[in-house]
Amino acid sequence: MRAAMFRGPNQPLSIEEVEIDAPQDREVLVKTAACGVCHSDLHFVDGLYPHPTPAVLGHEAAGVVEQVGPGVTYLKPGDHVIACLSVFCGYCEQCLTGHPNRCYNRSATQRPPAAKPRLLAGGKPVFQFLEISGYAEKILVHENALVKIPEAMPLDRAALIGCGVTTGLGAVLNTAKIEAGSTVAVFGAGGVGLAAIQGARLAGARVIIAVDMHESKLALAKRLGATHAVDASQGDPVGAIRGIVRGGVQYSFEAIGLKAVAEQAFEALAPGGVATIVGMIPIGQKVEVDGFSLFWGERRLQGCNMGSNRFRVDMPRYIDLYMQGRLNLDDMITKRGALEDVNEAFRAMKAGEVARTVLTF
Ligand SMILES: [Zn+2]
Ligand SMILES: [Zn+2]
Repeated sequence: MRAAMFRGPNQPLSIEEVEIDAPQDREVLVKTAACGVCHSDLHFVDGLYPHPTPAVLGHEAAGVVEQVGPGVTYLKPGDHVIACLSVFCGYCEQCLTGHPNRCYNRSATQRPPAAKPRLLAGGKPVFQFLEISGYAEKILVHENALVKIPEAMPLDRAALIGCGVTTGLGAVLNTAKIEAGSTVAVFGAGGVGLAAIQGARLAGARVIIAVDMHESKLALAKRLGATHAVDASQGDPVGAIRGIVRGGVQYSFEAIGLKAVAEQAFEALAPGGVATIVGMIPIGQKVEVDGFSLFWGERRLQGCNMGSNRFRVDMPRYIDLYMQGRLNLDDMITKRGALEDVNEAFRAMKAGEVARTVLTF
């Protein structure tokens, strides 16, 4: 099969022939229909996060089950699925207390180190990115990396739910659990931020402030539910937010992955407010907040891993909302392309031109 290979940071992915194994115990082979180009991949391509090479990136994928391995009872060939990087074992303490996104027994869903790798190129192992490797014609994953979805759901829009939508909606609905009538600021109007804005709209937020540096993304944010837009290229966004909601917002979300923006998300809070950090802040960077506003104002700063998802519960809910016309996924796809367009998709994302490019197969 063809796949987009990552051979090292700061170089384009190359389209190469990769051998994919047959499904073994509890594994499922899926024919990829679509894969979104998520910002997290770019963090690895840019070398901000380390990853062994060679590897096939991509993790926002949807497709159709082609073959199932021994012991798979949840799925059968022909089923439509979304893949999620929050692969869960199902029996560790995190999984059993309702936090499968924090599963700490991930090795139970991987092949043992001595076994044949799932992917090979020229007889040598190829690393699977986030246990998915979605920039490829097929993916081979543990069944607990998949959720079955209705066939009526278009697979290109389903793919978006695989990471960005689940992360943004989940940050609002699962991690922060905002109340109806709340005031909210979302920093970053990319795929995750736009989903958080929609989550805030669905949860009945009274004020939803989108903060971004790009005019076109702010316009889209307003179409998807933002009540106000703050162009951070025009000056201090914290002052602008405090100008809209006196005293600051009750909830803020950082959906970019920058230390400075995480600090702004905290500074934009009213007393008692909660800042939720969703973006991938580069490893080793420290986020600093003012100690006095933290304790005296009882403000909180919390992390959010993949929207605190229980994806087999959350994703079907999001599909219902889409089918009912209450969750807009159509406008979140700015561009479509083929596998070879992956590098152009990264460029467009870096330039701030797109909310999402979806590669279709
Ligand atoms: Zn677990
Ligand atoms: Zn992602």
